[in-house]
Amino acid sequence: MVPERVRTLKEELLFIPGPVKISEKVAASLSRPLIDHRGPQFAALLEGIGRQLGPIFGTNNDIVLLGSSGTGGLDAAVTSVFSPGDKLLACPVGVFGQRFARIAEAAGCDVEILGTEAGHALDAGALAHRLSSDREGSIRGILLTHNETSTGVENDMAALSAALRDHPALRLVDSVSGLGASAFTMDAWGFDVVVSATQKVLAAPPGLALVAASERAWKAMGSSKGARFYFDLTKARNFAHDGQTPWTPPVSIVFALEAALQQYYAEGPEAVWQRHQRYARAIRAAIVALGLELFSSPGSHSRTVVAISFPKKLDVSRLLLSLRQNHGVVLSDGQQELKGKIIRMGTMGDLSQTDVIGALGALEMVLCEQEVDIQMGAGVGAALHVFHQADADSRHGAAQESDATEDAQTTAAFR
Ligand code: PLP
Repeated sequence: MVPERVRTLKEELLFIPGPVKISEKVAASLSRPLIDHRGPQFAALLEGIGRQLGPIFGTNNDIVLLGSSGTGGLDAAVTSVFSPGDKLLACPVGVFGQRFARIAEAAGCDVEILGTEAGHALDAGALAHRLSSDREGSIRGILLTHNETSTGVENDMAALSAALRDHPALRLVDSVSGLGASAFTMDAWGFDVVVSATQKVLAAPPGLALVAASERAWKAMGSSKGARFYFDLTKARNFAHDGQTPWTPPVSIVFALEAALQQYYAEGPEAVWQRHQRYARAIRAAIVALGLELFSSPGSHSRTVVAISFPKKLDVSRLLLSLRQNHGVVLSDGQQELKGKIIRMGTMGDLSQTDVIGALGALEMVLCEQEVDIQMGAGVGAALHVFHQADADSRHGAAQESDATEDAQTTAAFR
């Protein structure tokens, strides 16, 4: 039974790292009458979406839409590009990177794992070192995660791209929870397949995987023996050239993606990047000011999800339940071995600065309720300080500070 308090709350404020709160405009687009998915209107819709997605991926190559969540896109990428027995180097930094590796194993690939301690970003030097020892070029593919949602860690994709520069392997990137929140230059960085999804930064409902591939990757697909039928990128590309998808697409989600992209460009890509960065900084500042710890290590913080460590004695599931039931604020637990040890707060979606302040206030109330020793108001105060400073900086045209500077300043100011 739904508890009484939940029903009396106007709506739940989704601060989970996807699916995210969608705007009223995007929600309204879902009620548009359906159109013929083999007709000219749909072809124009697909064409417009492709044109708008290109700069977000940073590619001039073809991008296809698959009717699935992000995982379907990762599955399609692996089975379309590789063949059973291919040697791949997977570089997970958390649960989703491990899933990417498992997809490749399920496809019969021979997967080697380059491990990274949870909470840390992939070390570009370690990657370069491993690749330099592959003198015969036996590694056919490299699996990378842009933004690891399970640990609140963002990899430095420019640095990883540089580390890969001289190796011939195809580079596949999971950017399900990263794409759109920062400048991403797939072509310039030499990534071969990049996978994202609608329900994260783009702030549309779940239902479409977005997959971009380089000429090299499209060519590799021609000789791949990976078992695939529904999730076949070559088929998707061939149909896309005729303004269609191979199978019946989730037409309403395509409408919603169109509306979400219109909003993305109306706000402006740089403003979107700064919004995510600003919200993440405000949340991190609040956490540090409350005397709590960030799970991600300095220099590897994600801008789309903040992971917060909790002392062992705290009952995380009770905290999350109270936040949801009493305040209508929804945050996520940790996953797998991090369940009960961290909470994750997303910054993506149709959220205002006021929503962030409200959610942090609710978090403080719940922490007090659970007798965690915090100074009430310190977190909200620190977040307000970040927002105020960002406002002042934008009025004076100042560049945003680097994360490293921010870490030092936040620690000095609030501890
Ligand atoms: N990869 C990352 C980094 C994710 O954050 C997620 C979902 O949160 C996925 C993959 C899986 O995407 P989906 O749940 O859309 O299948």
